[in-house]
Amino acid sequence: MQRKTSSPEETYAFGKAAAEKIKAGMLICLEGDLGAGKTLFARGLAEGLHVKEEVTSPTFAIMNVYRGDFTIYHFDLYRLESPEELSDIGFYEYAGQEDCVVVVEWPDKFAQEMPRHAVWIRIERGESDTQRLITIRSTGDEYRSFLKELDLSCPS
Ligand code: ADP
Ligand code: MG
Repeated sequence: MQRKTSSPEETYAFGKAAAEKIKAGMLICLEGDLGAGKTLFARGLAEGLHVKEEVTSPTFAIMNVYRGDFTIYHFDLYRLESPEELSDIGFYEYAGQEDCVVVVEWPDKFAQEMPRHAVWIRIERGESDTQRLITIRSTGDEYRSFLKELDLSCPS
């Protein structure tokens, strides 16, 4: 599934729309360069899940926790240097919880370590400063319906 956005607001709105299809236990991997729009998408997602706190980039904190319809663990792996650090920060425990949603920025740094079942969302810059190409794919059966529902609910 692919969508183009032409403004930060549209990417935010797309994140918010994605939230409506999200179920407990889901893992959302957000790929893209610095400034692509990963945190903005995560912010829309959090808003859609009725998070009231401010959603900021967890680059320095490595993980932020928000309470909305679910508990949301928002990771940024940018500063991690080795896969071992993932266990140090408790990543696997959080990612394995059934009743929460995990959002990961820079999952591609440790692609081999990411759980097998996930939604992978890649945000790339388009021709102009404010254009982005967003590609969504899923790994694992349980995410196939998520993709289908999102595709139907967000006309391109
Ligand atoms: P990342 O988390 O990927 O490093 P951020 O979400 O923090 O990126 O920042 C994205 C930046 O790109 C913001 O300053 C935002 O205003 C800008 N931007 C411009 N156009 C878009 C767009 N279509 N979608 C998302 N962000 C955009
Ligand atoms: Mg970010």
